[in-house]
Amino acid sequence: MPGPRNRTKNRPRNHTDNGSVVSQSASTGEAFANDVNDVNGWTEIVEFLCEYFKLPDLNKRSGLKKIHSNFSEIYRKLNNAYTSHSVNEKIIGGIVAIWAKMCVDAVLRNRLVREGLIEKIMPLMDMPSTRVVGLMTLATVTHHSGLDVNINIAKHTPTLLRLMEEFPDNPRINELAVTTISHAVGSVITVDPYDRKRVQSLDIPNVLRLVTNAMRKPTSSVMLVIHGMSLVTAATRHVPGNIKALPPLVSLMAASLRVNDISVRCTAVVAFIRINQDGSEEENRHFDFHALMDTLQRRRFPDNISDVMRDYGTSQCETWLLARTAQDQSNAAMNVVKDRDLHAYGNALAEIIVRTEFSVSNEEVPAYFSPEQLPFKTWSDALPLCAKALRNARDATSLDLDKADILDIKFFLVRARIPEAIVHAERAIKRNPHVAYFYYAIGWGPDHAQALRAVKKGLKAKQTTSFVKSYLLFRAVVSAGNMGVTGLATAGPDEKEYSQSIAFLMSALDDAEEYFKVAPPDARYMATMVNWYIVLTFAIKGHELNEDLRELKPALKRLEISRQISEHIGVPYRKTQMRLTQEMMGRMWPKALKEFAPTVTRYNKLYDDAPRGPKEERSVASTEDDLAAWLDDLHLEDGEEGRDTHCVHPRINSNSVELYRCSYCRNPSAALKKCSGCTKARYCDSVCQKSHWSEHKAICKTAGS
Ligand SMILES: [Zn+2]
Ligand SMILES: [Zn+2]
Ligand SMILES: [Zn+2]
Repeated sequence: MPGPRNRTKNRPRNHTDNGSVVSQSASTGEAFANDVNDVNGWTEIVEFLCEYFKLPDLNKRSGLKKIHSNFSEIYRKLNNAYTSHSVNEKIIGGIVAIWAKMCVDAVLRNRLVREGLIEKIMPLMDMPSTRVVGLMTLATVTHHSGLDVNINIAKHTPTLLRLMEEFPDNPRINELAVTTISHAVGSVITVDPYDRKRVQSLDIPNVLRLVTNAMRKPTSSVMLVIHGMSLVTAATRHVPGNIKALPPLVSLMAASLRVNDISVRCTAVVAFIRINQDGSEEENRHFDFHALMDTLQRRRFPDNISDVMRDYGTSQCETWLLARTAQDQSNAAMNVVKDRDLHAYGNALAEIIVRTEFSVSNEEVPAYFSPEQLPFKTWSDALPLCAKALRNARDATSLDLDKADILDIKFFLVRARIPEAIVHAERAIKRNPHVAYFYYAIGWGPDHAQALRAVKKGLKAKQTTSFVKSYLLFRAVVSAGNMGVTGLATAGPDEKEYSQSIAFLMSALDDAEEYFKVAPPDARYMATMVNWYIVLTFAIKGHELNEDLRELKPALKRLEISRQISEHIGVPYRKTQMRLTQEMMGRMWPKALKEFAPTVTRYNKLYDDAPRGPKEERSVASTEDDLAAWLDDLHLEDGEEGRDTHCVHPRINSNSVELYRCSYCRNPSAALKKCSGCTKARYCDSVCQKSHWSEHKAICKTAGS
């Protein structure tokens, strides 16, 4: 590859041969300037300067180490030349490029920045011949830099924006400006704790406006689009309102839902979710059993709803199950008043509990029962007493122990003592891992990762009911969905984190589809599930959807029925974040597709053509390319694993996402253990592996040999 180390021509004519130090007057004098002026091409100029100043090989770690040990001396030489020739574009451009190259090394970078490197780069922006070199060095420095340097660079955003406005049709200038802004501004707006003042000083609305314009240009390169997308993701963290306030960007995001590349679609989905957080309502958690029973007695469901319920099986619908459960419960209570048989009462309750969420209440037992008739104050107080009766029976079977655990767990759940419910459930699973209700209890915990791991296993448990299964699926969708969205919004340049996040979304979509197969039309979480399903469908399958979105019709029909049922029983259909997101995507989609069809086609081509390697390839050819290649190049002669000198923006292959799903329970995770037999199957733990073995052994043996 041609580059500054190609020492074939442009040898400095008057350099001293007596050692490494070039006298100060030489490099500040006119002769030196004349020599440099004779050299043409940036590669050649940098080569000339390296030679002239007798710099060690900057492509090698050992060369950078030599600069370390002699930094002050080398810096003084270069800086003298820079300041004495501050109007000589070749000299200052070449010297800045050399400094940029040194920035690969963190220690050198920090020293250079402390010496005022950024301020020395900026004058290059105003000279035609050094403009691109200046932008290139700035982009290179942001690739490697930490927050301090990026804060410093972000201060110069107005200059970069001005260049974008002055040269709207220069793809190279726009690509480099957007890359630099994405790195610098992106790191300032995502830093925790959030620094409102600093972010405000960056005028994000204007940044987003110009970056959006650049992204929409037919000349925009794939690097520009990737960095633009990454800036949008960064903006979703603390300033989603700035995205929402920019209609062209929202339209661009809607069109992006149809792009083939999954990372583009996910960027758009995250943006839509985040901009709908403000103004959204909490999910409806309140449930009034008596009001529901009251309504059911007073008003019949409209015919269309009754028909849908009949198709599913009216007696299995949530509403009727609740009514029947209430009846069964009062019968069981009457029995226990008569026979005082807590064992029998426990048996009845255990069966009711796995049938519906609202089975045993905290309400007080009516006062006309004496403590002798009912030895408990509230209905839920009966649960531990019955559990004890079941456990202590002389001929207690394993099934009795399951029921006793269900009663104890339910007691904690009813009392909102979730941590105790989880501890008890975990202990019960050790005794019998086949009861889905135990995993259901863990699914009530606040921790998404813990809940997801548990409910995925619960979905594989043999002893289950459709109510328990529906809840497990509901929780699997919400937890995986949230983890996926958060992961995408906060993933750094780590492909593993990114792939794992997409695996979460895929898992959530699978479970939402499964939910529709299991849950009744009047299920309490139906609307939530449909809203998630639509959002997830855009993320995972947006590129395959028809323009009229006919694929979403069955889900929207479910939503409409669910909405009518809510209305009928007097439960408001809340404006949740997922509802607003889903509705906004559907609303924007037709217009965005019409307006942005060429953009979608172009992005597809850009992403198809772009290499999937970790290296950023320059997509806009220019005369500075050799220099750009040199800036990116670093040979580690000692075989030491170097810090990646390129900025990596994850490009995800959908197939690789499969590596982040448990082969047995399909739990998405980046921490799975490989099967040692075939090294292909992956598992959460030895429990999943053992459970899968009967099915996996045939494949494992052929794959392993
Ligand atoms: Zn980058
Ligand atoms: Zn698993
Ligand atoms: Zn295997």
